[in-house]
Formats: sequence, C-alpha cells, structure tokens
Amino acid sequence: MHYISTRGEAAASRFSDAVAVGLAPDGGLFLPDRLPDLSPHLEAWSHLGYPELCLAFFSEFADDMESNVLESCIQSAYSDFAEGEIAPVRQLGDHTWVLELFHGPTLAFKDFALQVLGNLYGAQIQRTGEPINVLGATSGDTGAAAIQGLAGTPGVNTFILYPLGRVSPLQERQMICTEDPHVFPLGIEGSFDDAQAALKSLFSDQGFRIRNRLSAVNSINLVRILAQCVYYLWAWFRLPPAIRDTIEVVVPTGNFGNIFAGWILRKMGVPFSRFRLATNQNDILYRLMNQGEYVQEPVRPSLAPSMDIQVASNFERFLYYFCQEDPARVRQIIETFRQSGAYHFDHFVAEGFSASRAIDEEIVRLIQQAKASFDYVADPHTACGFKDLDPDRPSLLVATAHPAKFPDTIERAIGLHPAHPRLEVLKQKQARYYPVDPTPEAIGSFIESHPAGL
Ligand SMILES: *Cc1c(COP(=O)(O)O)cnc(C)c1O
Repeated sequence: MHYISTRGEAAASRFSDAVAVGLAPDGGLFLPDRLPDLSPHLEAWSHLGYPELCLAFFSEFADDMESNVLESCIQSAYSDFAEGEIAPVRQLGDHTWVLELFHGPTLAFKDFALQVLGNLYGAQIQRTGEPINVLGATSGDTGAAAIQGLAGTPGVNTFILYPLGRVSPLQERQMICTEDPHVFPLGIEGSFDDAQAALKSLFSDQGFRIRNRLSAVNSINLVRILAQCVYYLWAWFRLPPAIRDTIEVVVPTGNFGNIFAGWILRKMGVPFSRFRLATNQNDILYRLMNQGEYVQEPVRPSLAPSMDIQVASNFERFLYYFCQEDPARVRQIIETFRQSGAYHFDHFVAEGFSASRAIDEEIVRLIQQAKASFDYVADPHTACGFKDLDPDRPSLLVATAHPAKFPDTIERAIGLHPAHPRLEVLKQKQARYYPVDPTPEAIGSFIESHPAGL
C-alpha cells in the first residue's frame, strides 16, 4: 500500500516513510491510496484481544514493516494500560453505551495512538541508527501522551509546544514533571492555534526539517488515525449485534482526529450508522455542519480545553473525500481559507455526520445530568457528548478523558473530587518547562541547540 497527500503534490510514500515524516512534503496530510475492505475479516477478528486486533488492523497498512517488529511495537504499546480494561464498553442506560478511552498512562484517548507511535519511532531509530527530534503542539492531552509514548526511547528528543495558562494544571504537570532530560515542554504566550501555525511553518521548511531530522507527533501523523480506528472496531464487536447498524457514535471533537478515525473505519466496511461531532464553544465545525460556512473565529478558552481549537487540522483528510478525492479542489479550499479565514460551501452535505455544541454553562449542567440520569461521572470533554442525547435511540458515547484530570470542574458541578493514583505521583516530581516565543525562528533555534543524540 502507498500513502498519498491530500494536496496531491507529493510523491506517494511507503508506510514507514509516511510515519517518519508525519506531514507530507507538500504541506498536506497522508492518506492510504486505497482503503481496504475489512468486512471479510470481521467474523474472525471479533474474537481477538485488543493488541491482537490492533496488530491485525495495522497489518493491512504497515506492509513495509517486518511483522515481528510491528508486533512488538503494538504488544508493548498496550502493556501500561489498566489491567483488562484497555477500552471498556459500558452500558449506561437502555440505549446508551460509553466507550471509555481513558485507562492508559495519561488518562486520555491520545495514549492509544501515541504509545504505538513512540514504539514505531524507536523501531525506526534502531533500523537507521539516526536519532530524531520530535516536535508537537498540544492543546493539553497530546503533549502528555506524546511525552509518555516517547519517554525512554533512545535517540529521541521530544519538544512539545503548549499555550501557557491554557491547559489544565494537571495536564501541565503531566508534561513538565517527567524529570526526563530528553523532554522539552515549550510554553508559549498565545493560543493552541498560534502554536500549531508556528509548527506548520517549521515543518514546511524542508531544509530545517531535514537538517534536524524533525518528526511530527501532533494529530496529523497517520498512525494517530489508524491506531484510533482500532477502538471503534473493538467497540463495534462489544455492542449488541441488533443495534450495531443503527447506533450513533458521539465524539467530543477538537482537531477532528478521533471522529475521523471512526468515520474512515466506516468507509472500510464497518457499518456504524452515524457520527455526531460534539464541540464546546469553539464551534467552527458545528457551524460548518449546520450552515455550510467554515469561518474561523478567535479561540475562546473553555472548560474542555483539549477541544479549544478552531482550525481542525484533520478536517483536511475529510475534505479530501468530500471533494471526491480531487486534491486540486482541496488545495483551492485550503488556500482560500488560509488567506481569508473563511470558506463558504454552496452545498455542504456531510454524509453520516451531525453536530452539537455545548457552551461552558451547559458543560456543567451536562456533568450534572450524566450523574443524575446514569450515575456516571463524565469529564468536561465527554460531557459535551451528552448534549442532545436521545435516551430512546442507540448511542455510543466516546469518553475521551478521565474525570480526575479536571477535578475543579467536576467538583463545581457535582461536589465530587475525583482522583487517580497516576496523577497523585506527579505531585512529588520536579517541574521544568522552557518559555519560548511562538515564532518559527525562536522555536527552531531552541531545537537546533538541543539536538537528540544516540
Ligand atoms: C484531544 C482531545 C479531544 C479532541 O480530539 P480530536 O481528535 O482533536 O478531535 C477531546 N477530548 C479530549 C479529552 C482530548 O484530549
């Protein structure tokens, strides 16, 4: 299988190369050149354990890797998840299920992909003997999950940009209390979008990228999407067969990576009925789905900070299919949007999608409602999914973070103070971060003066 760019101006890559570079050289995002049909496998795969299912799925895509290397990358990726609880599906009500994705090392769904990605980077460094510098931007959870996924991998330095004061104190502690000399949390004055813009500009500088053996770890890496497909497949097998084809999957959404994974899995023959994109008050995608207008607004910090995003980078992957796989059309839309901050679609019919939005006051109310109706403690991101929930229709809510990551909001809503041992241990650790201007120049020179070595 080959991997092509959404912008159509880069040569097709093999799996390992697409993973190693992250972003395609033309600034686009990688996608498989064809999607496998998984339907013939579903019966046999339904009996597999989580890592085995993940391996079976990845084997469809990683066809240039040795199978024992791929297997060890995937097996060890899920070894630090809660015992027997990698991705539990729980029934909350007669027609309501929740897929809990917060039982990994940093208690958010991003661990699923970043543990795999960290191991794939490790395998690549072993093969080539060349160290790499990994750069990512985070609105909160990606940074912690990337750092955990890469920690201890020889030959990797990890640089994570995050907006100072705009991630939760516990999220910040997860990034800055690693006591790992190869981890560089870079705090910037600005928003996540500012961090992402600087990062994109560094990656589009070919010379800089090659000279520093730079790799991306934000949600644009293809492995993020593929690893996330697996838990939708896993959940599919755990739902009652009679409702599988009618269920609506509700996904708290920021960068559009999680929901896109579910949606593309459906294109591979796993017939989920619909996806609902649940946003917070940063609602560009909600407005797009409902009005056909893709219009950027300033980011407004919310109680669900990992969704405080306006320009959702993975949306370009969806756009590629929306444009009937015509990269010229994708380029034209992206360019118009980049120049003017807006794109008006004549006809925006996103087949299989709907959207909801929860402003901060509603998030508090939805946390209360989840507790009252289902005796369930939902973190502020997951709570957004309870908006517009119809208890009489089958729904699968995706729970993206453990409530203990956001104790203040939970306490304010329902008077409980959730805790988790993985967070408690951080309190004894030394904190360290590096303030950096949110410009490509400042970030670039920081990286050049802290290169990875073997
Ligand atoms: C990252 C994140 C999201 C948003 O996921 P995307 O893939 O960016 O849409 C939602 N909830 C939590 C807890 C997150 O960490």
